[in-house]
Amino acid sequence: MHIYDTVVIGAGQAGLSASYHLARRGIDHVVLDADERPGGAWRHRWDSLTMADVHGVADLPDAPAPGGSGERANVVVPAWFGDYEASHALPVERPVRVDRVTSEGELLVVHAGTRSWRAPSIVNATGTWTRPFVPYYPGADTFRGEQLHTVDYPGPDHFRGKRVLVVGGGASAVQFLGELAPITETLWVTRREPVWNTGGFDGRAAVGRVLDRVREGRPPASVVSVTGLALRPQERLAESLGAYRRRPMFTRIEPHGVRWADPAPAWGASFERVDVIVWATGFRPAVDHLAPLHLRTPYGGIALLAGTSDVQTAVTAAADPRVQLVGYGPSASTIGASRAGRAAALAVRRLLAEPAPVRAEAAG
Ligand code: FAD
Repeated sequence: MHIYDTVVIGAGQAGLSASYHLARRGIDHVVLDADERPGGAWRHRWDSLTMADVHGVADLPDAPAPGGSGERANVVVPAWFGDYEASHALPVERPVRVDRVTSEGELLVVHAGTRSWRAPSIVNATGTWTRPFVPYYPGADTFRGEQLHTVDYPGPDHFRGKRVLVVGGGASAVQFLGELAPITETLWVTRREPVWNTGGFDGRAAVGRVLDRVREGRPPASVVSVTGLALRPQERLAESLGAYRRRPMFTRIEPHGVRWADPAPAWGASFERVDVIVWATGFRPAVDHLAPLHLRTPYGGIALLAGTSDVQTAVTAAADPRVQLVGYGPSASTIGASRAGRAAALAVRRLLAEPAPVRAEAAG
């Protein structure tokens, strides 16, 4: 069986960047991607998200990102990724959903159903989109209305005439309210008081705070939790309609709405009737297939080895340096993903230069 130098799992921004840098260095690899076609998570974003709505997509190595426009992000970005794969002849195989990665001596074995690939290292670039997170609240299963997560957001027209509760304090919640409040009645609940960022932010410091968590092996914090939220011109109408007056989380869900425990809450009624609950409650890293490698710390995250020179280049799993994680923790943004791809290729090259016993020892 062919033994690759490395196997990249996932062909979003992080996986493509890694593949580009591996190819440039002549490192023999394959990229396995679960999707039918190019585009990573962008293929699945909702239709009303235009290139003017996104917060800025970073360049891929050697390919400037498409600019802001009224065109759909779920069309423009996948087309750009597809051209990129073709023009750089990146070795992407799809659809291949990796179900587990195991260790056999000094090699890692990547399994997808009955197929397998072997290499002395892997670059994991599986993002978060396939692991939507919905918190548990008592009574959720008794709700008679509709509940959906960001991954299933069907665009604003679906909600006309319905009373919509948006849950979550991230950028997606802000965008949904911006679209929905002008056409229907909305309510907004978040766990913590939202932190509005009105004066710009220090991106490096923000990413550094995410890195601190990942270095300790804690689950990565969401980017918004460190950057704060911002309203854009397209959300001003919703703001003027009061859509961003937030309430704290309810305590339970009932068949026709949600209830707060406090009988006389400061913000008004203790029960609100709603027709739809939109869970804009984020994602978790899609790393279940790495479970056999036992990378997680008791805190529940995967600790990364991290220097201090460029925080977005921390990619190597502390528990097994054969595993590089790109688009994870401090590199979970398009700019981070692009940079981490290069860092992963350099780490793979370093591993290949080491004598095999050192690699095996490093892997414990
Ligand atoms: P993805 O794009 O998710 O790609 C992962 C790939 O891995 C997918 O193709 C998937 O099919 C594949 N995969 C997953 N599991 C497996 C498996 N087991 N086997 C094989 N393949 C697998 N960042 C910005 O910088 N600017 C923005 O404007 C912005 N907007 C965003 C809007 C939303 C709604 C969200 C959720 C995120 C946004 N982000 C933004 C974050 C940014 O999109 C991501 O950080 C980045 O695109 C992730 O790239 P990735 O390559 O890590 O993952």
